[in-house]
Amino acid sequence: MTYTVAVRELCEFTAKAGDLDLRFTPAPTALEGIAGHAAVAARRGAGYERELTLAGDWHGDGPGEGQPLHLHVRGRADGFDAAAGRLEEVKTFKGRLDRQPASHRALHWAQAKVYGWLLCEARQLDTLEVALVYFDIATQQETVLAERCSAAELRAHFDRQCRRFADWAAQEQAHRAARDAALSALAFPFGGFRTGQRPLAEAVYRAATAGRCLLAQAPTGIGKTAGTLFPQLRALPGQRLDKLFFLAAKTSGRQVALNALARMAGPAKQGGALPLRVLELVARDKACEYPGQACHGDACPLARGFYDRLPAARAQALAAPQPPVPGPLALDQAHVRAAALAHGVCPYYLSQELARWADVMVGDYHYYFDLGALLHGLAQANGWRVALLVDEAHNLVERGRGMYTAALAPGLLYDARQSPTARSVPAVKKALDRIRRAWVALDKTIAPDQPQGAAYAVQEGGFPPPLLAALQQGSGTVGEHFAEHPEQADGALQTFYLEALHLLRMAELLDAHSLVDVQRPAGAAPGGSTICVRNIVPAPFLAPRWAAAHTATLFSATLSPGHYHADLLGLPPDHAAIDVASPFAARQLQVQVARHISTRYAHRAASAGPIADLMARQFAERPGNYLAFFSSYDYLAQVAEAFARRHPQLPHWSQSRRMQEAEQRAFLERFTDASEGIGFAVLGGAFAEGIDLPGRRLIGAFLSTLGLPQINPVNEQIRARMEQLFGAGYDYTYLYPGLQKVVQAAGRVIRTPQDEGVVHLIDDRFARAEVRRLLPAWWHVDLSPTQRM
Ligand code: SF4
Repeated sequence: MTYTVAVRELCEFTAKAGDLDLRFTPAPTALEGIAGHAAVAARRGAGYERELTLAGDWHGDGPGEGQPLHLHVRGRADGFDAAAGRLEEVKTFKGRLDRQPASHRALHWAQAKVYGWLLCEARQLDTLEVALVYFDIATQQETVLAERCSAAELRAHFDRQCRRFADWAAQEQAHRAARDAALSALAFPFGGFRTGQRPLAEAVYRAATAGRCLLAQAPTGIGKTAGTLFPQLRALPGQRLDKLFFLAAKTSGRQVALNALARMAGPAKQGGALPLRVLELVARDKACEYPGQACHGDACPLARGFYDRLPAARAQALAAPQPPVPGPLALDQAHVRAAALAHGVCPYYLSQELARWADVMVGDYHYYFDLGALLHGLAQANGWRVALLVDEAHNLVERGRGMYTAALAPGLLYDARQSPTARSVPAVKKALDRIRRAWVALDKTIAPDQPQGAAYAVQEGGFPPPLLAALQQGSGTVGEHFAEHPEQADGALQTFYLEALHLLRMAELLDAHSLVDVQRPAGAAPGGSTICVRNIVPAPFLAPRWAAAHTATLFSATLSPGHYHADLLGLPPDHAAIDVASPFAARQLQVQVARHISTRYAHRAASAGPIADLMARQFAERPGNYLAFFSSYDYLAQVAEAFARRHPQLPHWSQSRRMQEAEQRAFLERFTDASEGIGFAVLGGAFAEGIDLPGRRLIGAFLSTLGLPQINPVNEQIRARMEQLFGAGYDYTYLYPGLQKVVQAAGRVIRTPQDEGVVHLIDDRFARAEVRRLLPAWWHVDLSPTQRM
């Protein structure tokens, strides 16, 4: 059997030892790294060869008797000076080289010497000088560590690395073969497809086999998660796919996927569970055993000796579950934690290591989409062929904007200037003072344009150059300080520094997809504004992520209109789309429009009584559980007060601002098969999507809003940019996002083919044709005046 491995992957597996050391030290940016490599190469002679592609083979014994194993090792060495007979591995760095952890140095030597052997073998060399060239980004100086090695020595080194990796490679190879064989024969576990689930599954499979992107709108209740996971798993072997990433916006979405995967494997039949490794990725603060500690061996016992104990922890985590445990190998939080603690290593970083060896990763969107995303980075570095499933994909527009937006609030600079370092290091103080002066000067150019002296201004010329220069210089100074003194943890300064770097990075990437704005609250002095590089269209950032995947399916109940999502999410022009018909009949849901009520801002006070009366009449006609949605907490309170006053006998309860998880649970627990009453909630909040109240637990909803985002200076800027880019400013900014929320919230009512219910759309604008076009096709919308109630 042949197993192909990159030099870096091989050496990371075999040569990393000692502590996990993520001590805060500024690292070169990707651009600085590229420039550093180019600077080194430019200093070499004419015959210097850059970026040599090298590959070689190792033959040894596999784990079974008479089973040979063939490792194919490949990679790209940084440079070769044939005249000097020297192979160079270049590493750029900031700060003090003598502080570099020993584990990093050992890894660098291991890589350089593997390249050394591959070169000796390719060019028939007897001897070679192998050099590590450390290039200091700040001083542009090189520190060279060189060793002359014979080809025999290099070969022995190569042999040692491969031998250490061989058992693991053989195990991985066997796992992959078993996995693919099992997935090829995987049967749908839910006793037949539900209505609509089969066409969805077929579309996902077709997209996977064609290597395309699919935008799949499918109604609630058909089992979208299982309907997308199953065909995608079936497609892995045929498409030679290495990994499947299931990306969700919410924890609930991740849990549904984990449950579906567990069911999919079914009970252990004939001697074993489905050989599929499913890894749940959780945030650091949820997995950390020593909150508040820094991640290095001097501070955290689970970082000390991490790489020494990693092999045993990894082996335990990946050991196949023993029958009668059914299902795939679920590397969920509890399982990974148990393996990590059994071997005294950090659970969070163990789970990141396991991402290299798992088949299916279930995690939040940001693991693949944000600028420095772990899964995207691993996929690129290892050349994985991946499939993506994006759950509740309508959320990706807003989430994408958040990932590519950077803002610097004045409080961060204030705290940084008060920090111990700023008080004791003159260079840092001077740099921060200069930023402050540029910030104040910028603020003084912005006249108040809102009530009580508040201001909002877009910087039409891009990021203001004086502040940009001050931030660049200041972050350079602070970065140098941290590089020189990594032992000096200074939280406030570090936070400011990281936020400033993010802002500078987004300013560097500034284009029509984003704008620069300054917001000053009422009463703030100059320097009290927040400066923001605000992303509006995440498409240019997301498009390369789709391109890097073999196939991707984005699914949700609300992806209409398709062109809006394709434009904002940067889907490839040849993407496929499917709109799965609803399994529900129009008779199951009465949809009534209350045209006699306006919920426009100016009419809200007058509308509270009529809305309360409409709800009471509906309740009298059919007592049961209802949800009522409003555009804001204020509006909710107004109607709730009118409802309580006019209909005091009717039970109702309200969502409040910043509800904790337990309070949210209590809110939902009031919806039982036997209960009756109305829950008041805000549209776009915790109860407007992702909750499941089937049967009598919910029989109706009142929508006292079109969900239109508030008209404010930021949204008006977004509208202008949408008009400029897509010729659809109002629709792309207000109408489509608003109606999407309405349809999501109304979708809580009918969850099963047995459910029956009512939705009241309360506003005259719901009767307009352009609004009704955005409602689900299977709804029969009743506009008759007799429905006034
Ligand atoms: S346990 Fe916490 S502090 Fe320790 S290495 Fe892990 S994440 Fe860092």
